[in-house]
Parts: sequence; C-alpha cells; structure tokens
Amino acid sequence: MKADALKQQANLSLTSLNFDNAFVRELPADPDRSNRVRQVYGACYSRVQPTPVAAPQLVAYAAEVAELLDLQPASCTGEEFAQAFVGNHLLPGMDPYACCYGGHQFGNWAGQLGDGRAINLGEIINQRGQRWALQLKGAGLTPYSRRGDGLAVLRSSVREFLCSEAMYHLGVPTTRALSVLLTGEQVTRDMFYDGHPKQEPGAVVCRVAPSFTRFGSFQIFSSRNEIEPLRQLLDYTIRTDFPHLGEPSVAVYLQWFEELCRSTAAMIVHWMRVGFVHGVMNTDNMSILGLTIDYGPYGWIDDYNPDWTPNTTDAAGGRYRFGNQAHIALWNLAQLANAIYPLIEQAEPLEAALQIYGDSYKQGWQAMMAQKLGLKSFAADTDLPLISELEKVLQLVETDMTIFYRKLADLAPTKDQDDASLLAPLREAYYQPEVLTGHNQEQIAAWLRSYLQRVAKDGSDSDERRQRMQAVNPKYVMRNYLAQMAIDKAEAGDHSLVNELLQVMRKPYAEQPEYEEFAGKRPEWARHRAGCSMLSCSS
Ligand code: AMP
Ligand code: MG
Repeated sequence: MKADALKQQANLSLTSLNFDNAFVRELPADPDRSNRVRQVYGACYSRVQPTPVAAPQLVAYAAEVAELLDLQPASCTGEEFAQAFVGNHLLPGMDPYACCYGGHQFGNWAGQLGDGRAINLGEIINQRGQRWALQLKGAGLTPYSRRGDGLAVLRSSVREFLCSEAMYHLGVPTTRALSVLLTGEQVTRDMFYDGHPKQEPGAVVCRVAPSFTRFGSFQIFSSRNEIEPLRQLLDYTIRTDFPHLGEPSVAVYLQWFEELCRSTAAMIVHWMRVGFVHGVMNTDNMSILGLTIDYGPYGWIDDYNPDWTPNTTDAAGGRYRFGNQAHIALWNLAQLANAIYPLIEQAEPLEAALQIYGDSYKQGWQAMMAQKLGLKSFAADTDLPLISELEKVLQLVETDMTIFYRKLADLAPTKDQDDASLLAPLREAYYQPEVLTGHNQEQIAAWLRSYLQRVAKDGSDSDERRQRMQAVNPKYVMRNYLAQMAIDKAEAGDHSLVNELLQVMRKPYAEQPEYEEFAGKRPEWARHRAGCSMLSCSS
C-alpha cells in the first residue's frame, strides 16, 4: 500500500512537469516536418521525433538536477522516467525539435551543422520560476545529422554526464546532466578512424541548461544574409535569458555582447583554474550563456603541460591546447561579433567589447592565480615573475597540476630547511619522484622559497591560507582515467563506479578520506591508453 502511494506520487511529479516551450512558440520554425537531411533556411529549428529504442535502462541520474526540475528522486528510477528520457515516450507538454546552427570548425567556416544528434524536448519552468531546457543527446536522426547516425555510445555519454556534473560542483559554469540511459541497442563506431569499427552500447544523456543557443546559432543566419531571423533570435535571447538588459535595441545588443565577453572570460578562467581542456572549441560549441557545453574529446590536465590537447584530431595543430583556450575564446567571440554586426553596423563598439574580454580575462586570471597561490590579492610586480617562474618549474619534471596546488597549501615556512625536506609535502605531485635531485630539486626548492617569502609578505596565518587555497584548488577532478575506469565497468554491466564518481565529485574541495583512491595521480597504465590520454571526436 505504502509503496503504491509512493509510486503514484513519483509518477505524478513526472507528468506534472511544467512545460512552457517559448523557443518553439516564439521563433521561426522550419515548415518541413519530414526527417530527412537538408539545408534549413530562415528557421531556428525543425520539429523532429526521437527514434524509439529497444530497451532503455538507467545507468545514473543526478538528484540535484532532478530537483531543478521539481522531480523527486523516486521519479527518476522508474520505467516511466527511462521511457521518457531515452526518447521513447513524450510526456505531456514535450514538443521535440532540433536546432539549426552553423559554426567554424578548427578555424574554418563549416556552414550548416545543427543538432545532428541532439533533440530538445522543451523547456520547463520550475517552482522557483527558473526556465530549464531539456535536451536528449543521442536520440536519433534529425534533419541536421548530415552523414552521422544521430546516436551516441555509452563511453561518451558517461563522460558527458560525469564531467558536466563535476564541473558544476567545481563551480565552473556548465550545462547540466539529468540522466544517462542505455538504449539496449548497439552502435558502430570507428573510435580512431583507422578502419577498425566496433559495436558499442548506445546511450542517451539528458542535458539541462537555461538555453542551448550557441555562437553558431547566430552565425548561420548572417552567413546567409538572413537578417530578420538573426534579429528575432537575438531579441528572443535578450528577452528570455538577459531580461535585466531591458527591451532589445542596438545599445542593448552591444550590452549583451559585452556581457557575453565577460562571462566567456570568466568561464575560461575557471577552466584554467581546474585544469580542464575542452578539446573542440568550435564556434558551434560555444554557449551564449558562457556555459561549458558539448563534452566531447575533453580532457583534464594530469601532468602540467600547457601544450596538451586531448583531441587526436587536434594533435598536429594544437589549436585547442590547454594554454591556447583564452585566445581561441577571443577568436570565437570575434566571429560572433561579425555575425551580429548587421544588427549593429558599427565596428568600434564591437571591437571595444572584445577589448573588454581581454581585460576581464587578464584581471580574472590574475585574481584566480593569486587565489590558487593563497595570496590575498595579486601584486603585479612580485606575482608576475613568481608565476612565470612557476610555469617553468611545473614543467621541469612531470608534475601533477591538481596535486601540486592542493599540497602547496600544506607548505609551511620553517627555518633552515634543506631542499629535500622543503619539497617533502609536494612529493606526491611528481610522477617520477626519483628525478627530484640535483638541479631539478634546486630549482623547485628555489621557487618554493620565493613563494614562501611572498606568502610571508602577505602576512596571513597558515591555517587561513590553507583554507582559502583548498576552496579553489580541488582535491578531486574528473580525471580521464577515472572516467575510463567507470566506463570499462559500465560496459561490463556494472554502473556502480559511475555513481560513485558522481558522489565523489559532489564535494571536490572536501578531503573525503574515504575516497582517497580517486585523488591519486594518473596511473602508469593510463599514460597511453585510448580514452585516458587521447580521445577522438568519434562518440
Ligand atoms: P561536435 O563536434 O560533437 O560538436 O559535433 C559537430 C557537429 O556534428 C554537430 O552538428 C553534431 O550534431 C554533429 N554530429 C556529431 N556526431 C554526430 C552523429 N553521430 N550523428 C549525427 N550528427 C553528429
Ligand atoms: Mg557540438
């Protein structure tokens, strides 16, 4: 009896999701309702139904994302949830569609791209009045699928699910993930495009964000000289997602762009703080809310190397390498400035806004580095040389970025320490502690001494400094090898590690001694293992 009542309550909350599909209601639709691949002109979206699949099965869900939608945890584990969020069954109020957008891929204009394997279900307004758009990734073909199959595999879906939630808990602006479900069907993927296709389990992630509009959503219209839909999309975006800017006008368009320059700068500063490399910063993968979006061949920095890119497609050029992300974001913003230029017709204020990006990135980065080092504020004269020396020291020998900063908080000034004992609290950060001798040891110790001098000048108490540092330097990040271990198990039918990692990543700054094993540096087996050190776009 009690179980029945609970079940009824859970169902009730699933069917009572409060949909309000403003995007499809207010923006121009593609009149063609067929699901065949085509160029779509003058429209923001095409209506399309998800493709039904054989046997949906829940792998994991994020209770805090369910809560954003006013869903109880009990609603997320039943059959109805699985059917709805794999795309088999539409809940009342869902009105599925795929968005049209274009983009620059690796610096080249690629024309129309669009949601090739993402299907939006609609937007809900929760009890707090927040608007959340729901989107399934991997739910089948759309008019934008081009040569793809519209599907996603378990490995990439687990990566997206875990990483978007980890990023959220790390304090990085990001799209969220409600759930990851197996489809019960197999998908063929040639992971390294080397003529070795394999069957992999298919999966669907439900992503959640206030909006999934991308830079490329504007670019597609201006590339075709479709100015009216360009204006409609921008006016809609401002009214819906930037209401504080007031009614759309040329002045408001500029304010909007300036705000986006600031939020994009802030997002990249966070990426640099936590060691995240997006891997495919094409303009179609840039959110107009300054959110991290489209988790594909992303990676986390293990040993500090600003030239590292996780994406095998990017290996030769390194366009999207860790240390180039701020520059690429600016390049992408410049493409968006070009796209909205027809609505503004003044180059100077757009250039000034791009300057705002540069200034706010610089300021944000300096403040962030000061925080990582536990300094009360950034002092250019001392801290610029200190940080540029640190960049060298971190690359002298293989040094784990996350562990280094985390343990730096434990460094305490004591008198007459020799090099080895000074370095002791940091030994764990080194991949080959045996090379910490001679010149290497001297250089690292010299930097640590200058750092401690700077800390002494700052005059803060050691405990206070440690606390401040531990609030910005995570102990746990979603390391590539951890995700891979969870994937290996999930592919064998055991979803426990996906759920355990989600749990660990809920408190990335807390010590959580019970999860110590997930705080270690990348093990040797993962150094050259596909999925750990190198990833492809095949997902
Ligand atoms: P991405 O690099 O993942 O952002 O994808 C670039 C474009 O390719 C987007 O338009 C995607 O929708 C599309 N795409 C990627 N994978 C597939 C797939 N398996 N089927 C259809 N379209 C895809
Ligand atoms: Mg994309």
